[in-house]
Amino acid sequence: MFEINQNYLNLSGNYLFSAIQQKVKAFLAEQPDADLIRLGIGDVTLPLTPTVIAALHQATDEMARRETFHGYGPEQGYEFLRQAVADHEYRARGLDIAPAEIFISDGSKCDVGNIQEIFSAGCIVAISDPVYPVYLDSNLMAGRRIVYLPSTCENRFSPALPSEPVDVIYLCSPNNPTGTVLPREELIKFVDYARRHRALLLFDSAYSDYIREPGLVRSIYEIPGADEVAIEFKSFSKTAGFTGLRCAYTVIPRRLQYGGVSLHSLWNRRQCTKFNGVAYIVQRAAAAVYTPDGRREVAGLIDYYMTNADLIRSGLEQGGFEVYGGKNAPYIWWKLPNGFDSMHFFDKLLSTCRIIGTPGVGFGKEGEGYFRLTAFGDRDQTREALNRIAEARDIL
Ligand code: PLP
Repeated sequence: MFEINQNYLNLSGNYLFSAIQQKVKAFLAEQPDADLIRLGIGDVTLPLTPTVIAALHQATDEMARRETFHGYGPEQGYEFLRQAVADHEYRARGLDIAPAEIFISDGSKCDVGNIQEIFSAGCIVAISDPVYPVYLDSNLMAGRRIVYLPSTCENRFSPALPSEPVDVIYLCSPNNPTGTVLPREELIKFVDYARRHRALLLFDSAYSDYIREPGLVRSIYEIPGADEVAIEFKSFSKTAGFTGLRCAYTVIPRRLQYGGVSLHSLWNRRQCTKFNGVAYIVQRAAAAVYTPDGRREVAGLIDYYMTNADLIRSGLEQGGFEVYGGKNAPYIWWKLPNGFDSMHFFDKLLSTCRIIGTPGVGFGKEGEGYFRLTAFGDRDQTREALNRIAEARDIL
């Protein structure tokens, strides 16, 4: 008889996010012409840049000719893109990562969700709270025990090392949802922990291109010894507007060996079995991001969003609110006034200001009392949202 994976029943479900959708629907049913401003979205709003579009067109034309047509590509990604990533993301920063250690994929969500297939069922997994939900849910689906690492304003959103033994630790910096960056000395502690306990670190650097302050860590491989204990994930989604195009990469250094087995070869085996590579035209588009024009254009996208982040941050601070993040990340983590719980605050902001954000509790228990705004919106709408918040200041 067929039996379901019972672990799925332990997932909290997308209750909160569907509740939000329902609330917005009900609000619009009552006020169909309401000029809502959406600052809850985690998707980008600016289109792909001209250099990326030109590369897509050119690669599409290649697909139209027999001599230049591309069918199945290598599961690990085309050499031209692996080389470009190695050169620009690592070698340019003095980091020794070879193209063969880079696996091109169709998104970091899939990679951070799938990577746990190479862990044993009994691995104990440490996850910060609040957290990007994929790390948590993918391990709950596999029935693993989770140890939560609280990430709060008291510890400046930099979680302490686990107080009980763990085998795997997920870190995300710059962080979604808190918008904060883990300090170098804290990352050194995590790398040391992993080396001492033979644990595995998973470092999600989806937002590293949003780092503006010099000296902050963009890649975990900047920490000595990390190439023996850490896997790194990075996506083209938020950097270059690839949320709809889909391209990312995962770095598994060859030196990552556990029990004499190379994680690189395990992941390679997994990918070759279950994945058939990213579309040629998409990989050509991703490689175009590293050309001089591509880099200039992408810097322009990030500047646009970070100017929004500055506006949100300074606007809220001027209103006397306590806010975190938004300096080196497109997320602003708003500590709620007057003991508001985050779901009630959602209602209040929707009804008084016609603004949609994300209640912090959606990212974990420790997210209660916070609210996430994103910098991915339109500039004028972002300004307008802050005007509305300033006008409603007395009742918020
Ligand atoms: N990692 C983090 C921390 C994210 O916030 C996101 C997207 O919101 C992703 C990964 C997913 O990226 P992708 O679009 O490549 O699947």
